[in-house]
Amino acid sequence: MANVLRVNNPATGELIQEVKIHSEEEINQALKNGHDSFKRWRKVNAHERSRLLQRWSQLVQEHKEEIAKIMTLENGKPLKESLGEVDYATSYIDWYAEEAKRIYGRTIPASTESKRIIVSRQPIGLVAAITPWNFPAAMMTRKAAPALAAGCPFIVKPAVETPLTTMRLVELAHEAGIPTDVIQYVNGRGSVVGDLFTQSEYVRKISFTGSTPIGKQLIKNSADTVKHMTMELGGHAPLIIAEDADLDLAVQQTLITKYRNAGQTCVCANRIIVHENIVDQFAEKLAEEVKKLKVGNGLDSDTQIGPIINEKGYEKIVSQIEDAIDKGAEVLAGNQYDVNKDQGYYFVYPTVLKNVSADMVIMQEETFGPVAPIVSFKTLEEAIEIANSTPYGLAAYFFTNDYKTGTYIHDNLDFGIIGWNDGAPSGAHVPFGGMKESGLGREGSIEGIEPYLETKYLSIGNL
Ligand code: NAP
Repeated sequence: MANVLRVNNPATGELIQEVKIHSEEEINQALKNGHDSFKRWRKVNAHERSRLLQRWSQLVQEHKEEIAKIMTLENGKPLKESLGEVDYATSYIDWYAEEAKRIYGRTIPASTESKRIIVSRQPIGLVAAITPWNFPAAMMTRKAAPALAAGCPFIVKPAVETPLTTMRLVELAHEAGIPTDVIQYVNGRGSVVGDLFTQSEYVRKISFTGSTPIGKQLIKNSADTVKHMTMELGGHAPLIIAEDADLDLAVQQTLITKYRNAGQTCVCANRIIVHENIVDQFAEKLAEEVKKLKVGNGLDSDTQIGPIINEKGYEKIVSQIEDAIDKGAEVLAGNQYDVNKDQGYYFVYPTVLKNVSADMVIMQEETFGPVAPIVSFKTLEEAIEIANSTPYGLAAYFFTNDYKTGTYIHDNLDFGIIGWNDGAPSGAHVPFGGMKESGLGREGSIEGIEPYLETKYLSIGNL
């Protein structure tokens, strides 16, 4: 097997760059170097770690246009979205540069006068991260920034489709003064690197963002060395529109949550659940707006929908659309394609499907594409039943201006991230993560640094 990764532009199929695949020896050496650096990095005081992160953030912003262009070339997303992702990625570095200074311990009143009890927090050790291709910058900094802030060395394996963004971010971290063995990347196939990470005695924590089946495998493979885990896995987000909802707002926010990154987002609305009295009106309005979305190369300034990342992703989307049509779904927009398998590009036009039912695959599995399946409901109980009938529990959305309806829906949804009249609830300052098979732990906010810290308590006696 060639020891290079060919990084292609998914909008054209053209080769952008060949990237060296690291050998097993090199990866094991990188893990050892990371582990060895822990003794020194944990002793760098929190204010200095914070300053280094701030410098990193500054450099990322100074290179914003360059990083965004790399991202659009390797991932395909529109340049405007890539620029937005660089800001989003930077916001995690900024947030955790501040949190580094707020890792507090506590004292506990002792049960006798001759004792004192002190609880302190210490960094967990070497963190090994595996990231997906859909947000090559933000999924990396969301892990690296809290790890480094807590005093943990960090090593990352980016997805084979999009290693270039991560490589550039790591170079900038080094330029900022973060030691080269404290933040590292390795390139290679997930199945190979994943095994090296999970088997390594040096790795104390695995932080993974990707699909649920791979997450489950990493959890199993880490059992022998009892590693800590953060798992940001798949989603299958419901979006409920109550009878009283502001329809224009619901359409506008559905466009944002469903079609961003060509629908290749873990928090994408995947099932649009609309009250039966407004379903036709909503579906027509949505289809009308969807038809205006411009599909094309992300480098063209007017592009709103870029390519699908690869053939496998494209095949999955097409099979879900075909299955839905076979079982009675009506196409209101899309179901059109611009594909060249020889050259290697796959565009799916944004699609709206009506008369969708629970037996269709699209209602059961994550689509990861620009397809909005619309199903109707009669009662709120039924809407909740449809929304929760999935092993996933990442994001959910609902639209209503009635506080009783909203409170009822919120209280009954089993999802970690909920947007009420809001299709874009993410941010560095909020806890991001899923329930059920969507994951373990949270990233962002004050919760996001916890998984990189151990609790240690000291009992002083004989006072
Ligand atoms: P994926 O196939 O699970 O790949 C994600 C990463 O895992 C890649 O770096 C991949 O490497 C690696 N990998 C593959 N096989 C592996 C193995 N056996 N052991 C260890 N690592 C392995 O997922 P994807 O298709 O790229 O990404 C889409 C999925 O990510 C969706 O399910 C989406 O919902 C989820 N996601 C979740 C969040 C969240 O925050 N919850 C955010 C973004 C995406 P290779 O590149 O070598 O295959």
